[in-house]
Amino acid sequence: MAHDHDHADHDHDHSHPASELSPMDLRVRALESVLVEKGYVDPAALDALIETYETKVGPHNGARAVARAWVDPAFRARLLADATPALREIGIGGRGGEHMVVVANTPEEHNLVVCTLCSCYPWPVLGLPPVWYKSPPYRSRAVIEPRAVLAEFGVTLPADQRIRVWDSTAELRYMVLPMRPAGTDGLDEAALAALVTRDAMIGTGLARTPERNT
Ligand code: FE
Repeated sequence: MAHDHDHADHDHDHSHPASELSPMDLRVRALESVLVEKGYVDPAALDALIETYETKVGPHNGARAVARAWVDPAFRARLLADATPALREIGIGGRGGEHMVVVANTPEEHNLVVCTLCSCYPWPVLGLPPVWYKSPPYRSRAVIEPRAVLAEFGVTLPADQRIRVWDSTAELRYMVLPMRPAGTDGLDEAALAALVTRDAMIGTGLARTPERNT
């Protein structure tokens, strides 16, 4: 994503004039120029790719799948049994989602997703990963002390609710199916989807309750 990388994993010297590009920006631009010059990439194709990840692909897709699972027990069963074809049923799939696994939170067990090796993330359902997901502290601490990490995200789970940590890889990527919040019986699928945050599907958050959502 030549135009959409983040700045968090290197030191950004804010004393530079605003027009000056960071070393990472310069490297990305130089690389893009060389690839375009040599005819390896088409700038229009790059723009289309970036546009896709900025507007079409994002957590609203995963939220749609979660809301469907909450209202349709048969879909929920298919989603948990074999997520990839179930997601395809509702038009979700593609690069980074070839082998999806959906894990459901229960009162007994909370699920948390990490990629300890790098930053593997289910793009078709969640879009681009947040900066913290790629950070070394999250990647190591999610495994070592998940309860403390969750507390920092403002999530305090009952002491008797187990936390299960799933390590995403390039081959297999996980998404959490959060529990349906109380007080949502009258809500339709679209209203339910609006309660499902990105973090709830990573496991660093919970689905919002209707009160907190307004
Ligand atoms: Fe990774």
